[in-house]
Amino acid sequence: MSLAQQWRDARPKVAGLHFDSGACSRQSFAVIDATATHARHEAEVGGYVAADAAAPVLDAGRAAVAALTGLAASDVIYTSGSGHALELLLGSWVGERTLACLPGEFGPNLAIMAANGFQVRALPVDSDGRLVVDDAARALAADPPALVHLTALASQRGVAQPLAEIVAVCRAEGIPIVVDAAQALGHLDCNVEPDAVYSSSRKWIAGPRGVGVLAIRPELASRLEPPVPPADWGVPMSVLEKLAQGEHNEAARIGYSVALGEHLAAGPEAVRARLAEVGRLSRQVLADTSGWRVVEPADEPTAITTLEPTDGADPVSVRAWLIAERGIVTTACELARAPFEMTKPVLRISPHVDTTAEDLDQFAGALRDASNR
Ligand SMILES: *Cc1c(COP(=O)(O)O)cnc(C)c1O
Repeated sequence: MSLAQQWRDARPKVAGLHFDSGACSRQSFAVIDATATHARHEAEVGGYVAADAAAPVLDAGRAAVAALTGLAASDVIYTSGSGHALELLLGSWVGERTLACLPGEFGPNLAIMAANGFQVRALPVDSDGRLVVDDAARALAADPPALVHLTALASQRGVAQPLAEIVAVCRAEGIPIVVDAAQALGHLDCNVEPDAVYSSSRKWIAGPRGVGVLAIRPELASRLEPPVPPADWGVPMSVLEKLAQGEHNEAARIGYSVALGEHLAAGPEAVRARLAEVGRLSRQVLADTSGWRVVEPADEPTAITTLEPTDGADPVSVRAWLIAERGIVTTACELARAPFEMTKPVLRISPHVDTTAEDLDQFAGALRDASNR
C-alpha cells in the first residue's frame, strides 16, 4: 500500500482539504486512542500512578527523537511546545547573551530572545532567504556570537536551510548551535547532532497539541543554569531534571510518543521523499495562478508552499473564505511571523503525504474562485 493511502487510512476521514500541517496535522486513530486511554487509566488508578505505568512509552518517544536528531534519548525532555523549549534554554543561559540567526527568524522566537536579553545579529542569506554557508563561516569566525540559532525550516517560507553544513561550521568554530526543528522534524533530515534541538508535536509528526520536545547535548547542558530551583540551594537535580519540572499533560506526551513511533515505522526517508514530491507538485499546479506568485523555488524539497498576492488579495480573508465556502484549511502568514524577512503577507499551504494531484487541482480552482468572488 502507498504511504499516502496508509496515512489516510490511519486517521479520521478529512472534512474538505487539510493543507495545514505546518500549523497542526491530523492525528491518527492510534494517537487519539492512546491519549484517551491514558486519561481513562488516570481515572482508574490515579494520575501519578498512571504516569509511572506509562514511563516506557515516554522513553520510547525520547528514543525516537534521539534517532531523528542524532542525540541520545537521555538528552531529551518533553516541553509544552517549541516556544517553551526555547524559553527554557535561553532562560538558563550563562555568560554573554549574543546570538546569530537568520533574517527570516520566526517572530515569536525573536521575542523570546529579546525577553531574555539576547542581542541578535543576522546570518548572511541569498535572495530566497537561504543561508550562504561560506559567508556565514567567515562572519562567525571573525566575530563569534555566544550561540547560533538556526530555524532549519521556517513557518513563513518553505526553503530548506543547509542544516548539516552550518552545524559543521559551528562545530569547527566551537560555537554551540541550537536548532528550531518545529517545521523540520519529520520533514527534513535533522539527524545532524546539533548542540540542542527542539520541536512541536502537532506539526509534521502529527501528534497532539500542547506538547513538544527539547534535546540538549551533555556538553551544552553542563553549561546551563536553570533558575529554578536556585543553584545555591544545592538541590541534587541535573540540569535536564530542572528544565523538565512542572505540571503537564501526560496523555498528550503519550500521544506524541505514539505519533513519533508511527513516523519511524512509516520510514522517515520515505516521508521526506513524499513531502518533497507533494511540494514539487504543489508548485507545479500553482505556478500560473493569476493574482498569486509562488515564493519557493519549484524543486525545494519541502511540502511548504507560500503564495504572495500580486493583485492585492488579502491572505487573511482568502483563508477565511476557503474554510467557510470550500472546507479548505490553509494558513495566512502575516508580517509578524518573520518581521525582518516578510514584506507582504502570504497564503501558506502545508499538505501532508496523503495529498493527491486532484486535491491540489481542487485547491487551485478554489483559489481562482476566491480571487473572482
Ligand atoms: C510553530 C513554530 C514555532 C512555535 O512552536 P510552538 O509549539 O507553537 O511553541 C517555532 N518555530 C517555528 C519555525 C514554528 O513553525
